Amino acid sequence: MAITRDDVLKALSTVTVDRGGTTLPGSGRLSPVVIDPGNRVMFSILIDPSEAERFEPVRREAEGRVLALPGVSSVLVSLTAERGSATPGPAPGAPRQSGGPGAAPPRPPQGNALPGVRHIVAVASGKGGVGKSTTACNLALALSAQGLRVGLLDADIYGPSVPKLLGLSGKPRVIEGKTLEPMQAYGLKAMSIGFLIEPESAMIWRGPMVQSAITQMLRDVAWGELDVLVVDMPPGTGDAQLTMAQATPLSGAVIVSTPQDLALIDARRGVTMFRKVSVPILGVIENMATFICPNCGAASAIFGHGGARHEAERLEVPFLGEIPLTMAIRETSDAGRPVVATDPDGPQAKVYREIAQKLWGNLTGAPAGRAAPRIVIE
Ligand code: ADP
Repeated sequence: MAITRDDVLKALSTVTVDRGGTTLPGSGRLSPVVIDPGNRVMFSILIDPSEAERFEPVRREAEGRVLALPGVSSVLVSLTAERGSATPGPAPGAPRQSGGPGAAPPRPPQGNALPGVRHIVAVASGKGGVGKSTTACNLALALSAQGLRVGLLDADIYGPSVPKLLGLSGKPRVIEGKTLEPMQAYGLKAMSIGFLIEPESAMIWRGPMVQSAITQMLRDVAWGELDVLVVDMPPGTGDAQLTMAQATPLSGAVIVSTPQDLALIDARRGVTMFRKVSVPILGVIENMATFICPNCGAASAIFGHGGARHEAERLEVPFLGEIPLTMAIRETSDAGRPVVATDPDGPQAKVYREIAQKLWGNLTGAPAGRAAPRIVIE
């Protein structure tokens, strides 16, 4: 059975590198994963020389997890303090081996992800208008409905839509002169550049300013304890998005696409982008999959159907599910009353909840909200 890089990254996402629960792939310390034709898996973990002792158990655990994957013949994991020579493999001068489509040098270590935040998950799309923000918002609510503590960070600096989607206005409170208190709606903590500046002001910002605003919204906001922080990424796969994916300590990414061919080409670029920076793809979502007629309730595939599922299979990434194009989703999103929160028993909320459950499973290997069984001794 052929092993894929994503299989390896998924196995490694159960390995944590600190008490805060930062996963190995999310820590920025992982080199590209190399799988040779004999199904031997090789990668390394970037450390500071002083961390060698602390990381030896992590190295062993990572090795064990990958070795347990069906089909893996052997695993070589090294600790390395030397960036660039992280991947065991080709001799100097030999052609660079790649760990799958678009693999690139490891992300620089970002230190401890975010204290108190277990997972940061990016919701991205290859282009604008596919419903990325609507999906991010309703997914965050669906994760919250499963009993998880959830935040929503709007990193779409040029087109922030979280304030509108959650029906929020006003400015966040500043605590002790330097930290922002997140806004709250429907049980979510939320932060957006839209709360802080006039909508037009950010339009003239250049890349570094955008990155610095996002870093501040990550680090200088009192997120508190969160199981997951959902990040609504800026649309597209250009340099700005790549820098952001690299600079944010992500546990994984979700790609939203519509079923049309053109959108799927962009989705493919999204997958490649995250692979380049060693962020595991948690799955692809097909939005606006079928149109549900508001009068008769009949479903029609006006944009075609099943394209994203097919594409996900081709790219060997998980498929998380299909969200129909419905009047209820559009109206509730645009009115700041997201459907998962305002019609939790309706059919749309069910779709988002199912996707959220799969997403959480891919992230942690566990069903959401289910506590470990308690053994009662009588
Ligand atoms: P993006 O973030 O990709 O630019 P948005 O989330 O802002 O996209 O969505 C664009 C428009 O499409 C919004 O008016 C939104 O209400 C609508 N929309 C998104 N997903 C759906 C859906 N599944 N059904 C109906 N309308 C949707």
